[in-house]
Amino acid sequence: MRPLDKGACPIDPATGRNKVVTDYDQWRADLIKQIGFYCAYCNMPLSHSLQVEHVIAKNPMPGQPHGLRLAWANMLLACGPCNNAKDNKPMLPTTHFLPEDHNTYLYFETFVPHPDPDAAIVRPKTGLVNPELKQAQDTVDRLKLDNIDRRPDVVDIRWMHRFAALQAIAAYRNIFDMAKRSPTYNENIAAESIAKMSTSVGFFSLWYDAFADEPKVMEKLIHPDFVPGTAQHYFIAYLKTRSANRHSFWGYLKQLLRNLILKLRLS
Ligand SMILES: [Zn+2]
Repeated sequence: MRPLDKGACPIDPATGRNKVVTDYDQWRADLIKQIGFYCAYCNMPLSHSLQVEHVIAKNPMPGQPHGLRLAWANMLLACGPCNNAKDNKPMLPTTHFLPEDHNTYLYFETFVPHPDPDAAIVRPKTGLVNPELKQAQDTVDRLKLDNIDRRPDVVDIRWMHRFAALQAIAAYRNIFDMAKRSPTYNENIAAESIAKMSTSVGFFSLWYDAFADEPKVMEKLIHPDFVPGTAQHYFIAYLKTRSANRHSFWGYLKQLLRNLILKLRLS
C-alpha cells in the first residue's frame, strides 16, 4: 500500500481561501490531481468508477467516531471493492494502517497463493510481530485485500489486476536489466521510463519491491512528476543510504557481482 500525502486543502481561486464543497463528489478532480487515479488502499488504477471515500465513515456504526462529511482532510479515492468492504465499519489509525497516517509500504506484501496460481492477494509482511502484525491483519481483513472472488457474477477483480501487475512489473524489470547492459544505457531515461510505465499499472508497492536496489528508479517512482501524492519523506533515508552505498567501494563491488550473476543467468 503506497503511503500518501495528498497535501493541504485546495484553494478556491475565486476567494483565495480554502475550497468549500456542497457535495463530497466535488472533491474528485482535486483528489485525482493530488494522488492520481488510483484506489488509495489497493492501489489499483481506476477507470470510471472512482469513488470519493470517507477515511473516517460519515455514517459510522453506533459508538464509533463520526468522520466529517465534506472536509478535504477526510477524503480519498477508492475502488468499489475496497469502499464496499470498508463500508461504515471502523477503520482508524489506532487500529488499522492508513495510507495518510502510516508508512503503509512497510506492513503488507503481495503473494500468489498456492492453490490459486492465477491470483495475487495481500497479507501482513513476513517478520511483523504484534501489535503491528495484528494491525496489518485487521487492515487486510477490513478491506478484504485477500479476497479471491470466483463467483460467476464476479464483482471484485482486484486479485486479477494485482496478478497482472506482478507479471507486468517482472517483465519491465527484465527489460530494465537488459537495457542496463546496452552500451547506450542512460540511467535517467531508463528510470523515468519505468516510472511512466508504473502510472498505467498502479500497485506501487510492487514496483518498490522490484526496484528497491535501483535508487534512481525509486526516486522517479515516488516523484510527483510521474505519480502524484506519494509520501516521499518516508523514502528519503532509504534513498540516501542506497545512493551512498552505490558510490562506496562495497556498493560498487555488489553492483558488479549482481550484474555478473544476471549475465550468467541469461547466458
Ligand atoms: Zn481498492
